[in-house]
Amino acid sequence: MKDWQKTDLEYIWHPYTQAKEARNLPPVLIEKARGIKLYGTRGNFYYDTISSWWCNVHGHNHPRIKEAIRKQVDTLEHVLFAGFTHKPAIQLAEQLIVLTKNKFNRVFFSDNGSTCVEVALKMSFQYWHNTGKREKTKFVSLDYGYHGDTIGAMSVSGLDLFNAVFSPLFYPSYKVPSPYCYRCPMEKKRPACAIDCIKPLERLLEHKHEEICAMIIEPLVMGAAGMIIYPKEYLAKAAALAKKYKVHLILDEVAVGFGRTGKMFAYEHLPQIEADFLCLSKGITSGYLPLSVTLASEKIFRGFYGDYEKRKTFFHGHTYTANPVACSAALASLKIFKEEKTLQKAEKLIPFFHQALEKFRDLPLVGDLRYIGFIGAVELVKDKKTKESFGLKRRMGLEVYKRGLKENLVLRPLGDIIYLFLPLCASKAEIEDILKKTYLVIKSLS
Ligand SMILES: *Cc1c(COP(=O)(O)O)cnc(C)c1O
Repeated sequence: MKDWQKTDLEYIWHPYTQAKEARNLPPVLIEKARGIKLYGTRGNFYYDTISSWWCNVHGHNHPRIKEAIRKQVDTLEHVLFAGFTHKPAIQLAEQLIVLTKNKFNRVFFSDNGSTCVEVALKMSFQYWHNTGKREKTKFVSLDYGYHGDTIGAMSVSGLDLFNAVFSPLFYPSYKVPSPYCYRCPMEKKRPACAIDCIKPLERLLEHKHEEICAMIIEPLVMGAAGMIIYPKEYLAKAAALAKKYKVHLILDEVAVGFGRTGKMFAYEHLPQIEADFLCLSKGITSGYLPLSVTLASEKIFRGFYGDYEKRKTFFHGHTYTANPVACSAALASLKIFKEEKTLQKAEKLIPFFHQALEKFRDLPLVGDLRYIGFIGAVELVKDKKTKESFGLKRRMGLEVYKRGLKENLVLRPLGDIIYLFLPLCASKAEIEDILKKTYLVIKSLS
């Protein structure tokens, strides 16, 4: 019989993977998936506790998404998107604009999270160029922020472990401290603090706004940083500052969009917020096909509108832009949201999920516990009092991951942060079982 894992190790270069480690911990071979379970070759299963890299929403093998994909493949699988269009893209764009209640007015399609961020960054840059403010060329982002792995997206990301080696390639961008309450950059305590961590951003914008195009931020949850969940007051203040100093605001909801925080989009926790761009990807097709969108306001769109020879056109596009099959999967997913009342159902389970997570707080290694919607995380530390971390060498997160696999869990860690990022279709019984098992895994380490 073919040894699939061995052949994999021979030919494949996996993302975010040290091949030397993979020799002892080869990639898990998954044969099929149903609902929130992934099945291995021997019929064994793993709960898909991180939604297959934060993209699955309605569960695997969903009949309605499969049907939509099948129908679309029978009709039109792909067509170029410059000079041509198709109904799935038009319907999807219209529905996204309606869903954002006309905060945004135009939809630009691409095919993954990094590219929809690149599109927003380039649009912001060119907007100022087109409108005569050519000194506005730099960006602001948060320490530990994550916006993708392409060079442009890395330039505004703040995760040194991933990106430090490439730093000579980055374009100029300002970094400001992030509202990481557990390790507060101002050494203050919530809820007593007055969001003092906004001050560096305030000072920067006050002095440098004339050279800054945009600020990019992950609303409420900094995902790859380790599910850092921050006070919405910070986002409100940052948005107000961006407005005051005429700097575009780019909301990167690639991870948190499509219900993860309990609302369709995380920015809806602040209904008054004003932004120029919204980036969406991971959950958009419920994890079935790659797709992303950059939503822009009408003001931005107008900045590119004019006679061809004025050179205002946005010259950017990808071969698979607005792929009809991917758009059809996204439409099916939105329909499920509506007809199966996905958000309303999830809303009822969120308090239960959060209460159950509270039990983790007293475990000896748990330094911080944070949660919002269907996202929950614990930060493991060596010393609860000093918050000293385990460090890179100890590979504490990896240890949890290995033990998790034995308990049917996919606890893929972010450093020493263990998190759950559950599909919205998870049932109460499933959540209960996942939490019980996760608790035992973490407890077994202390
Ligand atoms: C994952 C992610 C991206 C990048 O998306 P890819 O599809 O992996 O390129 C960008 N921004 C945020 C907030 C993300 O979580």
